[in-house]
Amino acid sequence: MGLVDSLLNLYKVDLQVRGLRSRLTSAERYLSAQTKQLNDLLVNQQELLTRKRQLQATIGTRDVEIKSIDDRLEKLRNELNSAATNKQYTALLTELNTVKAARREVEDKSLADMEQVEKLDEQLKIVEGQIADRKKVRDLANSQLQERRNDVGHRLSELETERAQAAAVVPVQALAVFDELAETYEGEAMAPIEEVDRRHREYACGECNMHIPFEQISLLTSRSEALIRCPSCTRLLYMQEEMRGTLAKK
Ligand SMILES: [Zn+2]
Repeated sequence: MGLVDSLLNLYKVDLQVRGLRSRLTSAERYLSAQTKQLNDLLVNQQELLTRKRQLQATIGTRDVEIKSIDDRLEKLRNELNSAATNKQYTALLTELNTVKAARREVEDKSLADMEQVEKLDEQLKIVEGQIADRKKVRDLANSQLQERRNDVGHRLSELETERAQAAAVVPVQALAVFDELAETYEGEAMAPIEEVDRRHREYACGECNMHIPFEQISLLTSRSEALIRCPSCTRLLYMQEEMRGTLAKK
């Protein structure tokens, strides 16, 4: 096998390895996105629960306050009933009305807080529903990832062995060039030569369409071990089987 063929072989296996790995990474990314969304919802739920607890505590304190106001009112009413003078009666009545107004104020605040608690309960119900839904999606994403690991895992280790074998027959320098290009172009390290016009001997890089001088093309057909790279995108160029056939006949 010539150098270009060895590289082509490596290129094809490498693409398959990358494809399988990316199937795993996409499943992992999907799962972590779902987990993050679920955590955000759980944080939101905790915040709502904390606010609810605080409001309930305030309402509880006000209930105690109202109870002591009621005791005070009861006492004032008794004093009013047994008022000896008109002046005393008027003074007690004024105080009674003041305390009553204060009671209403406390009561109004509590009512407003209770409304808030009701609103929080509605929000909590919505969030709980969202959490339940998100948990289902997260669990599904998790089992999909496990499934994919099972499916892909075995095939991936097979392909990784194949890739190592394919890389072993490529000279170190060429391999370094290949690896660097594969890194840059997400596996697309090689490009086929495209025939633009045979009569005018016009050829181009199949990836970036840059014109390739005919001398380079003939180097590839002369079975030399030279590596031809696209002058623009620098990918390693190869010739597809059918073109190799037609050019060889000339
Ligand atoms: Zn190119």
